[in-house]
Amino acid sequence: MPEPTIKILEDSLASKIAAGEVVERPASVIKELVENSIDAGARNIVIEIEEGGQRLLRVRDDGGGMSYQDAILALQRHATSKLRAAEDLFSIATLGFRGEALPSIASVSHFEMLTRLASEETGTRIVVHGGNITEAEETGAPPGTTISVSGLFFNTPARLKFLKSQTTEFAHIAELINRFSFSHCHLSLLLTHNGREVLRRPAAASLREPIAQALGRENADKMIEVAFDSPLLRVGGFISPVELSRATRSQQYFFVNGRAIRSRMMSHALEEAYHTLMPLHRYPVAVMLLNLEPSLVDVNVHPTKAEVRFSREGEVYSALRRALEQALTNAGLDSASAAASAGVFSAAPLAAAPEQSGLLVAPHAPARPAAPPQTDTPATPAIHPALRPTAAGAGVHFRPLAQLRSTYILAEGDSGLLVVDQHRAHERVLYEKFMQGLEDGSPQAQPLLTPATVQLAPREHSVLQENLEALRKLGFDLEEFGADCFLLRAVPIAFIKKDPVRLLSEIAEDIAAAPATNIQSRREQALITMSCKAAVKAGDALGKEEMEQLLADLSAASRPYTCPHGRPTVMTISNFELDRKFHR
Ligand code: ADP
Ligand code: MG
Repeated sequence: MPEPTIKILEDSLASKIAAGEVVERPASVIKELVENSIDAGARNIVIEIEEGGQRLLRVRDDGGGMSYQDAILALQRHATSKLRAAEDLFSIATLGFRGEALPSIASVSHFEMLTRLASEETGTRIVVHGGNITEAEETGAPPGTTISVSGLFFNTPARLKFLKSQTTEFAHIAELINRFSFSHCHLSLLLTHNGREVLRRPAAASLREPIAQALGRENADKMIEVAFDSPLLRVGGFISPVELSRATRSQQYFFVNGRAIRSRMMSHALEEAYHTLMPLHRYPVAVMLLNLEPSLVDVNVHPTKAEVRFSREGEVYSALRRALEQALTNAGLDSASAAASAGVFSAAPLAAAPEQSGLLVAPHAPARPAAPPQTDTPATPAIHPALRPTAAGAGVHFRPLAQLRSTYILAEGDSGLLVVDQHRAHERVLYEKFMQGLEDGSPQAQPLLTPATVQLAPREHSVLQENLEALRKLGFDLEEFGADCFLLRAVPIAFIKKDPVRLLSEIAEDIAAAPATNIQSRREQALITMSCKAAVKAGDALGKEEMEQLLADLSAASRPYTCPHGRPTVMTISNFELDRKFHR
């Protein structure tokens, strides 16, 4: 019989292969060692690096330590204290679980482990060269574990060749420790390079501390806290106001159950939350920590665990969006910070966190103090009916200069030139007014001289029926009239110049056509449609007073920078930019 050609790999060779996946560069060694220290309950972790890690990588911790036998076992492949049964794999609460790191690292380096259980008198020292244990002895040692790795990749020249300069490799390590300081701010971390202290993060009660050390105190104080709890997950962290945005996403840190991950889903949620608040090609700084039931996260999808899979991704995404939007709204970012940084609008501080009234409420409906009652009831003929003043535009620091192509308003602001899309700006203003009307149940309605009958197709008819209460709150005095008709007695004041019957049927059509599956978003759709229909159009010529009013209303809006569809309303050309362009 011929010799079988298939052989089970020797353990040491298998480890070397595994090392190819787990140990890519010095920083990966540090990542695995620090994660082990954290899993071992350490409070203090010291990381010493020499020559970018090629000469020495050492991690010292004051965690639980290991017994002599465990220390030997820890170096076997697939030896772990963190998984007992197969089902544990589906609810992993520790950072490690594969039992691969130590044998992998030891197979491609000179490796030394010094460890002691706090309860034992003596400790253990084990030396491994390229995967072979050469020494194992009892010895004096402080409680905890110290692992030293030198000559990394000495026996895998291909890997060695791919290492970058010492500076680059060290930079990866420093960045890694920085990340650990965010995910585990209660730890004290110290990093040295060639004997010099490079990074020190004392144990902190709040994430703001390590952020202050990374970004500077002043910037950290400006960061907006995210704190959100739902039955599914908890979101904590800090996100930046617009002024602290960056040109790349490199300052966005995401963690799931304490594990640093890359996540397109999370980046997407973040960018969507900022909508068009962020100028093009600018990205918020963010440190976001997600915590959820370990069984809902699959961490076993990537060799270095840099990516995870969520089993209820859609729900996680929407909870995340809510968390972020709440944080931004509470911080008054749209009006206050964004305005301050853009220098465009005067700040209109928000009163309190948004409250869901359950009626036609958008997810980010801001709670604002009720607008002062309307003063001049009959519309001044010169003013577009939808632009009649509702509030004094106090504290507004810009004035309209001209209208461009009957579409854009050019205005002078404190910090430069504004170009306002009149239709979108007006949509925004109306949208918030309608919402406000709904919230305080004080619609601004205009009775019709003669009530109109509205006859609709069955589908639209039932849409109106379904939304009757909400439509009343918005100022439509609507009553069912016979089997297939409505009687319309009054319309919201913004609509007095429109054909009310056509308008109502258009709204009904739009709501019926909306893909929305729940009533909440259908109602939001109704508000958006109403705002869109009632708003001045591109091509409508506006007088100076109308432009003034629109700008004043916009500056008082809580989200002045986007229309209800999320598109930009305003573009600014700053004085600085102008001066630079003209070489002043
Ligand atoms: P894993 O972390 O996936 O379990 P490792 O190879 O990284 O696998 O470690 C193997 C085992 O060694 C761990 O399960 C743990 O019991 C032990 N261990 C490793 N590092 C430490 C440490 N710093 N302190 C205490 N125990 C450790
Ligand atoms: Mg590990």
